[in-house]
Amino acid sequence: MGRLEGKVALITGAARGQGESEARLFAKEGARIVFGDILDEKGEKVEAEIIEGGGVAKYVHLDVTDENDWDSAIKLLSNRHSKLDILVNNAGIASTGKNLEEVTTEEWDRIQGVNLKGVFLGAKAAIPYMKASGGGSIVNISSMAGLVGVPGIAAYAASKGAVRLLTKSIAVEYGPQNIRCNSVHPGYIETEMIGGLLANREAMSNRLAITPLGIFATAHDVALSVLYLASDESRYVTGSELVIDGGITAQ
Ligand code: NAD
Repeated sequence: MGRLEGKVALITGAARGQGESEARLFAKEGARIVFGDILDEKGEKVEAEIIEGGGVAKYVHLDVTDENDWDSAIKLLSNRHSKLDILVNNAGIASTGKNLEEVTTEEWDRIQGVNLKGVFLGAKAAIPYMKASGGGSIVNISSMAGLVGVPGIAAYAASKGAVRLLTKSIAVEYGPQNIRCNSVHPGYIETEMIGGLLANREAMSNRLAITPLGIFATAHDVALSVLYLASDESRYVTGSELVIDGGITAQ
């Protein structure tokens, strides 16, 4: 029996990268999934492959900054499955890599919009359905940059730090309704988000030198941890932060 047998899950930003890995893994573990992104072609391809492999999956266009998209996704989900057990707020965008004084207000708003408001809207949309389903698990993808300051990505770090405390607040507020909420804090994960870094040998070796485990992680490494937090195996875990950074922030 799969570790998510009987569960219904909604995952954002899942057309590629970590979200895609989570979608594939959750479906393999028996969850019926609805997953969203703004990359519709890629999302539909992932949907077809999961179904071909015997999974139950539906891709939906879901821009996490758009409340109407959330309404439509939740409606689709409730029509298909009439409950919601798991929400993974994974969608995110990287910082501009500029020093703070050069970041425009538009860039700041865009980053907070996707990385922070998107998580707020997701939780707001999902919680009523989770309450009606007798509880649920929300997993918010933050970052190691949500734990410590990182030069050059202040807007990103601010958004991810806020996700950390939004997570704990949801955990405290909705624990009595059996809704758990935890944050995940990845370090360097080999996805398109850090494509520029992966292509730069010197920058790569500098980052690896400060990583105690001496390697970067894969999207699947993160998906396995998200699976644990999504499943009933973590039924007493809420308001916690799971760091997946090869030891970088332990120093
Ligand atoms: P990625 O860029 O491959 O995936 C991000 C996904 O989010 C993409 O599919 C993208 O289309 C989607 N997305 C962007 N804006 C969106 C929007 N408005 N609405 C819906 N979807 C949107 O990168 P990833 O590494 O898979 O990132 C997943 C999460 O992990 C992000 O929240 C990211 O901040 C976080 N993270 C990544 C790393 C890393 O090193 N890759 C490290 C720490 C945290």
